[in-house]
Amino acid sequence: MDVPVLLITGGGRGIGAATARLAAARGYAVAINYRHDASTANALVDQIRAEGGIAAAFAADVGEEAEVTGLFEAVERTLGPLAALVNNAGVLETQMRVEAMDAARIRRILATNVVGPLLCCREAIRRMSTRHGGQGGAIVNVSSVAARTGSPGEYVDYAASKGAVDTLTIGLAQEVAGDGIRVNAVRPGFIHTDMHASGGEPGRIERVKAFVPMKRGGQPEEIAHAILWLLSAEASYCSGALVDIAGGR
Ligand code: NAP
Repeated sequence: MDVPVLLITGGGRGIGAATARLAAARGYAVAINYRHDASTANALVDQIRAEGGIAAAFAADVGEEAEVTGLFEAVERTLGPLAALVNNAGVLETQMRVEAMDAARIRRILATNVVGPLLCCREAIRRMSTRHGGQGGAIVNVSSVAARTGSPGEYVDYAASKGAVDTLTIGLAQEVAGDGIRVNAVRPGFIHTDMHASGGEPGRIERVKAFVPMKRGGQPEEIAHAILWLLSAEASYCSGALVDIAGGR
């Protein structure tokens, strides 16, 4: 039987890496995309292979169209036809109010967090859609609880980009439901990864965990399990869902 191929954008560390490890253990051949950090992504590939899994790393900036098309071509050449996509790559920048943001920053956020998932969905659909001779498939977008809280005083630009990811998920799920493709999103709360350091506050979760009903941040693996369920046949009637995983917040 063919091994299903899963592409995870931004899969070298954090939530993407936890998803890659779990997916490999569940029998996927995992394509791990990264932008800059080749050594971390390659170390993850080595670890998965040492445990008997199939994985390969691919550099590409998801906000750049030519790099995205090159990424999908390289994944198929190396691992085979695509069965599933996790749009996980995402960025935020230093905490500040909107009146202090410049256009270059806003464009960087939107390029990775909105243009990236849209382009990756396009490439995945062109390959997976039964309309184009594909076998169908599943897409999971990694949004954020920020899409409904808005992240005031921290990064409203990031929150707005995740609102766009939610809308993309809802619309695309309906658009490709007849093509054998399911599209869902997870919306993590405060998760222990390096992302908070990008906002200038590596210890952010310690400060904000009091606002979480469970009084703690989440682990990347707690998001990965939901992603793998949404990708699986167990979720065969689930499309267009936004699944909050945020400790009750
Ligand atoms: P992270 O640890 O900062 O990892 C982000 C990953 O995305 C890295 O592997 C990075 O690659 C990659 N990346 C960034 N820009 C990229 C681009 N333009 N093209 C390709 N790859 C790119 O982040 P994380 O916390 O795991 O976040 C993963 C997803 O979860 C993001 O969409 C984030 O918005 C979402 N999320 C996170 C939290 C949280 O509390 N951590 C909460 C809600 C939602 P390099 O390593 O090569 O730079």
